[in-house]
Amino acid sequence: MSIVGQGTWPVPNRDALRRGIDLGMTHIDTAEMYGDGRSEEVVGQAIAPYARESLFIVSKVLPSNGTTRGVARACERSLRRLKTDYLDCYLLHWRGEVDLAETMEALEALVDAGKIRSLGVSNLDPWDLREAASALRRTPIACNQILYNLGERTPEAHELPWARENESAFVAYTPLARPHSRTGDDALEAIATRRGVSPEAVVLAFLARDPLAFVIPKANSLAHVEANAAAGDLVLDEDEITRIDAAYPARERIGALPTN
Ligand code: NAP
Repeated sequence: MSIVGQGTWPVPNRDALRRGIDLGMTHIDTAEMYGDGRSEEVVGQAIAPYARESLFIVSKVLPSNGTTRGVARACERSLRRLKTDYLDCYLLHWRGEVDLAETMEALEALVDAGKIRSLGVSNLDPWDLREAASALRRTPIACNQILYNLGERTPEAHELPWARENESAFVAYTPLARPHSRTGDDALEAIATRRGVSPEAVVLAFLARDPLAFVIPKANSLAHVEANAAAGDLVLDEDEITRIDAAYPARERIGALPTN
């Protein structure tokens, strides 16, 4: 699956998604919540001409649908909207009121039934991750999708270590947000110019520098899709990483795992 994927919130542009797939961004992230199902429908239209096995399609169940029956029904609805008969990964969107163990067992049952190839979570901190993992008998947590960008690097000290210990993927959502920083912009521009890519591609390559990390930028503009795709081939060197790290330093987390 591609390290640089494509986000689809709230509703993607079908042609931009196809351009992204053609450029190798075959990993597509959606959710039943996005556009009240419209995002999944547009993804379904976008992927129709492609061989299903060449794609990695991720969707998410709302926590309010997290019961045994709710997860199974939500998955069927997502499959129908996406016009596919399986998901590559299906995530609990965030922790809600339903018992976490019940939701995880329901996801595991979908793996057993062949409806989903793997299961994962989103917006879980290491405590919730441990609880979620302990409810699973046969299936590992394939990924945790979290807010991770140049202004929010606290997952490096919390969720990334959990991912390493558990050989689980670490998926960055809202990867392109960054704080205003003249020094930071200058550093990104300088690296981008030297590498012949956009500053956003440099940002994505920085966030994806860990072997377990993936990024899912959303772009409805074709130019943005093309710029993001360039990050797939970009490996930053030590000096470039040090410069970005200094311009956008990781800070201590205060309070809960941020989600926006
Ligand atoms: P994002 O991908 O960081 O940013 C999207 C914005 O950046 C759009 O305005 C887009 O413009 C612009 N953009 C994209 N590529 C660009 C480029 N190369 N240069 C300049 N601007 C560019 O934010 P996001 O949509 O919040 O997050 C990405 C995806 O993560 C979502 O779409 C969704 O799939 C997922 N997500 C998950 C959760 C969760 O709770 N699990 C929460 C939030 C998001 P255009 O669209 O006009 O091209």
